[in-house]
This record gives sequence, structure tokens and C-alpha cells, in this order.
Amino acid sequence: MYWPALNLKNFNFIPKGYEIPDTLKYLHLTSNNTIFGTQYKEWPTTNVPLVCDMSSDIFSKPIDASRFDLIYAGAQKNMGPAGVTLVVVRKSALGTVSRYLPTMLNYETHIKNESMYNTPPVYAIYVSMLTMEWIVQNGGLAGMAARNEEKGALLYDEIDRNPLFYGHAVPEDRSLMNVCFRLHDESWEADFLRLCAQNGLDGLKGHRSVGGFRASIYNAMEKEGVQRLVETMQQFEREKA
Ligand SMILES: *Cc1c(COP(=O)(O)O)cnc(C)c1O
Repeated sequence: MYWPALNLKNFNFIPKGYEIPDTLKYLHLTSNNTIFGTQYKEWPTTNVPLVCDMSSDIFSKPIDASRFDLIYAGAQKNMGPAGVTLVVVRKSALGTVSRYLPTMLNYETHIKNESMYNTPPVYAIYVSMLTMEWIVQNGGLAGMAARNEEKGALLYDEIDRNPLFYGHAVPEDRSLMNVCFRLHDESWEADFLRLCAQNGLDGLKGHRSVGGFRASIYNAMEKEGVQRLVETMQQFEREKA
């Protein structure tokens, strides 16, 4: 059950089918919305350069990088500790800005200096390297995608099955990183969070602009953690019956 499935509101869907003028200098996307739990499954069809903030789903699945002129991602979700940002920029996109760019904000500065124009945060970079090795050892990006699809299916299936809960995002745009869901009876929210805490589950309170619950199940979250949440939702259903 998805309810209210066709009620498009509060950023619960990815806009599609809009016209993109080919006079645009670029189109900026954010591939995954952590607050509302939506995620692009297909990139917009356009010839204008695409720029994408992939902070919250980088390395969660294979992507066709050739579609983008610029990809950037803060490390702090799927890559490593806060403090380092990954940038992938098409060489032909460099030097195309005619207005004044402060030295530090110009990617050419960092490329020329091999990412050592400033003192790099070596610890954050080192841990990011360890994470990438872990990704490779666990099947690479295809392996990450398989794990994340399995985790997402487990949780969304329970949200759809359990009569107490419903998902925030429309099914076709559901994020595999941030699963936002609600109770039909909001007065039970504190009860559910208490039961979660009893079962060792923390950090499930939704963002203040959506309310309800948010399970952030980035690469690092094991399937067992998602399973525990599903069991807790089932336990809650029995307790409220
Ligand atoms: C997490 C995230 C941010 C916020 O970054 P913080 O430094 O963790 O607050 C910004 N943009 C995107 C796309 C994100 O996923």
C-alpha cells in the first residue's frame, strides 16, 4: 500500500518531463535528496552540460560518468570522514567561466597543484582510500548496487505491507539511501522511536521539514540493521493491534 500515492507534494517526487532549453549553460541536479528520500533513477534527456551533486549516493551504484561535465561529492556519506570532497570535471569544461573566480574556488588551481594547493586533510583522504578498497573487495559498484537494492526492497516492502506505516516518496522515485516513512497515526511516533531505541536502533527521527522517520541506509549499513528495523516495525504492529 502506498498512501497517498498520487498526492504529489512536499518534494515527494523527482520532476520529470519538463522542457530543458538548449540555451542553458548547464543544468544542476542533486542525484539523491536526503531529506525527502527521493533519488534520480534516470538522468534528464538533454544536450546541455549536466552538473551533479552526488554527495549522498556516490559509490552506491554504477553511474555513467560520461553524461556529466561536473560531478562533486562531499565524502561524509558513502566515502569517508567529513572534510574532503571528490570532484570529477570534464577537461573541456575548465576555463569556461569568464567572470572572476577566487583562486581557491577555481578547479584549475587544484588540478595544477595535484590537489595540494592547500594542505590536504590527509586523514580523511586516507580513510576514503580504505573505503574504496572495501568497495572493491565487496564487488565494486555493482556489488554496492546489489546490496543497496536488497536493503531498500526489504524496508520498502515492509513499509508497503505494514498497515501502520506509509512511505513519503512516490514509489518510482524512492531513494535507496534515505528511506522516509510515516505512521498514519502520528501520535504514536514517540512510541515507535522508543521501541526502536530498545532494539538498538538510533537516528531514525525524520528531518524536521518532513517529520516521521528516516532510515539512512548508506553503503556502510549492513542488511542486518535493516532487518532489525523491519522486525521492529512488525513488533510495533503487534503491540498496537
Ligand atoms: C549531506 C548533503 C549535504 C550537506 O552536507 P553536510 O556538510 O553533511 O551538512 C549537501 N548536499 C547534499 C547533496 C548532501 O547529500
